[in-house]
Order: sequence, then C-alpha cells, then structure tokens
Amino acid sequence: MEDCEWHIVDDENHYESGCGGEWFFFKGTVKENQMIFCPFCGEPITEHESIV
Ligand SMILES: [Zn+2]
Repeated sequence: MEDCEWHIVDDENHYESGCGGEWFFFKGTVKENQMIFCPFCGEPITEHESIV
C-alpha cells in the first residue's frame, strides 16, 4: 500500500489527490481538517506543500 499524495491545485483549500480525485476544504489544510485517509482510494494522505 502506498500513500495517496495530495497537491494544492489553485488555492490553499483546493486539492487534487494522487488517485485522480478533487477535494475542497471550506477552511484549512488536510491536516487542519484532520483528514487522514483519502476518501477516494482509502489510502493514507500525504500532503505536499506547493512550491512557489
Ligand atoms: Zn487517493
């Protein structure tokens, strides 16, 4: 099993998952929302910070 890598898409609350899903938080990050497992594939989420 591998972690599902989530990347920020166009703002800090909009994510794209490594398995092809998209998720939007009203507020905060993956960690701040205490989301541990990807709702699409069930794997643990690894959050990647956007590189500016
Ligand atoms: Zn996933």
